[in-house]
Amino acid sequence: MNSGLAPSTNGSAEVYAVRLLKRRRLDGGTFEFTLSRPDGFSFRAGQRIRFEHPTGERDYSLVNGPAATELQVCVRIVQDGHFTPRLARAAIHSRFDISGPHGYFIFQPAARPAVFVATGTGIAPFIAMARSGVRGFRLLHGTRTADGLYYQAELRAAAAGYVACLSGAAAAAAAPPDAFAGRVTAYLAAHLAPGAYDFYLCGRSEMIRDVTLLVDRRFPASLVYSEIFF
Ligand SMILES: Cc1cc2nc3c(=O)[nH]c(=O)nc-3n(C[C@H](O)[C@H](O)[C@H](O)COP(=O)(O)OP(=O)(O)OC[C@H]3O[C@@H](n4cnc5c(N)ncnc54)[C@H](O)[C@@H]3O)c2cc1C
Repeated sequence: MNSGLAPSTNGSAEVYAVRLLKRRRLDGGTFEFTLSRPDGFSFRAGQRIRFEHPTGERDYSLVNGPAATELQVCVRIVQDGHFTPRLARAAIHSRFDISGPHGYFIFQPAARPAVFVATGTGIAPFIAMARSGVRGFRLLHGTRTADGLYYQAELRAAAAGYVACLSGAAAAAAAPPDAFAGRVTAYLAAHLAPGAYDFYLCGRSEMIRDVTLLVDRRFPASLVYSEIFF
């Protein structure tokens, strides 16, 4: 979609003006935001945009595939955060400046089976990959409760295996019948057969550190690609 607003530059990255078109609640604290897609803005599934905001720069992985007419991000609102509460309150049609595309978290087809591991909104780049036609991957989505399993039906349809890993104490309520009670690391340690895999990890730094250590111990012939959110 054409936003009708011309790009400028900020250092080496091109800066585009976009409009907020839609806001959809995914759970109590997470929203999908739809933005206009500027003319000439191209990206690959797994890449991200950066909001160039007076409160600072904030990166968000795009959830839509490269052919989409709009841009979509999936954002957890951090209550005392500088940027996300402003985004949550922004009126429809508000203007934002973004730069991008940024990042290299892109699916690399290989003979080794792909295992995608996400926590929370770290699911975002995997949705874009699924929407761009990537198939045959196994996906683990770690959240505290079943509310956080955004885009589940779509991901199940694209994945060769989908496991919800619910770590919260009361996770059983509304959990899918095949959910695993525990963290993604516990699932990998107990249920992934020995072998060589391509792991794609996205989410909190603690998860990425813990899974990388586990891969070194249990799946040493594997490759790890990672994207750290915070
Ligand atoms: C490569 C990359 C990709 C990212 N993609 C996404 C994405 O797709 N979706 C998304 O929601 N976020 C994503 N993030 C995080 C995002 O860029 C912001 O850091 C986040 O939205 C918080 O911004 P804020 O200004 O509201 O909070 P800040 O003012 O930056 O932070 C306030 C406090 O909250 C903590 N905090 C920061 N982020 C979180 C969080 N997610 N949950 C809990 N506490 C937090 C900070 O440590 C700090 O103590 C990504 C970050 C990176 C580096």
